[in-house]
Amino acid sequence: MRRPNIIIIVIDAFRPDHMSLFGYEKETDTNLKKIARGGILFTNHFSVANGTAPAVTTILSGLIPSTHGIIHQFPYTKEEEYDKVEKIKFWLPSFLKEKGYETVCFDWLGEWFTKGFDYYKENEDEIEGLFAPTKMTVDLAISKIKNAKEPFLAFLHLWDTHFPFPNTPFKSSNADESNKILSGIEDGKYRDYVKKKMDAAKLYSVQDVIDKYDDTIKIIDHEIGRLYTFLKRDGLLDDTILVILGDHGDVIHEHGIYFATCGLFDGSIRAPLIMRLPSINGKVIDGMVQNTDIVPTILDFMGEKTVALDGKSLLPLIKEGRRVRNELLLFDAMANDVRAVRTYDKKLILAKDNFCNLCKTSHHNGTEEYDLLKDPGENDNIFSGKSELLKHLKSE
Ligand SMILES: [Zn+2]
Repeated sequence: MRRPNIIIIVIDAFRPDHMSLFGYEKETDTNLKKIARGGILFTNHFSVANGTAPAVTTILSGLIPSTHGIIHQFPYTKEEEYDKVEKIKFWLPSFLKEKGYETVCFDWLGEWFTKGFDYYKENEDEIEGLFAPTKMTVDLAISKIKNAKEPFLAFLHLWDTHFPFPNTPFKSSNADESNKILSGIEDGKYRDYVKKKMDAAKLYSVQDVIDKYDDTIKIIDHEIGRLYTFLKRDGLLDDTILVILGDHGDVIHEHGIYFATCGLFDGSIRAPLIMRLPSINGKVIDGMVQNTDIVPTILDFMGEKTVALDGKSLLPLIKEGRRVRNELLLFDAMANDVRAVRTYDKKLILAKDNFCNLCKTSHHNGTEEYDLLKDPGENDNIFSGKSELLKHLKSE
């Protein structure tokens, strides 16, 4: 078999429930829907963390944050976390480069993410505002892929979906709910922070934030459609492993959290995942999977062996419907020390130090347990002092 090209597209802060593919009433995802129908759609995919730095490190390593070292999002990443990731035991770009792959990256993060890439596009101040516009990233990716020698790895990170969405034109409704939102926040420091965020985005109602977020998804969907058409026309599609996923979810207004991926509720950690594997397509997979599993799946598909990883190959699940995991470990990238374990029906969140570095407040308290079947919104803490799930957090 020819060695496949690999394209991984990460969409920042991407919630599945804002796609018609997952039942949303707005058609934000015309192209992604088409790609999913011709590929493999995972309906129960979760990130290992609610922040980009640990999540993307996991996507590229197949390791959980406590193994690869990066638990906290920038700028809360600690010295010892940097030291640990320096010695990471597996890194997909370096592994593939070793195997003769050309490796190109359009991620904009810099730091340790540059490792193993022949070409790495960093932000050189030509970008207005926070993040590279998706059109620019996709233009660059197409031009590099056109000239890449095969096989190649291309890694793209699309940022338009990240609050306050500076790249997306939007006509606000001018609705102003700011008093209602702010008066509902008890913590004064957090109230000031949320006010600052609304001012930065010039959005003063939850509905406006939702509508603008949906517009950013449409832009990303259009650009991915453009890349997909290019791959098809260039005859690259059938020899390429394509992975499209959110690095984590997002919270717009649930649980008293505004406009950030804070907390370990499902909103922050559930993310879309679509794959295309040469010769295995047209499947919908309901089994629970995590971004830790992407690297092991790619390696298994290629028939490559390496060091032991934390993730699991999803091929048995994709091909035979065999469940590959019953629980997920979750790491809070914003709070000092909050972790969780999630199964199909329960979630246990253990907040040893719940201070959120981003919001200067807290989103979890002590130990929380939720019955996800009876209470999918995670509103009713049923922790009674004992839980079957505690052992997972202790062993970790
Ligand atoms: Zn927070």
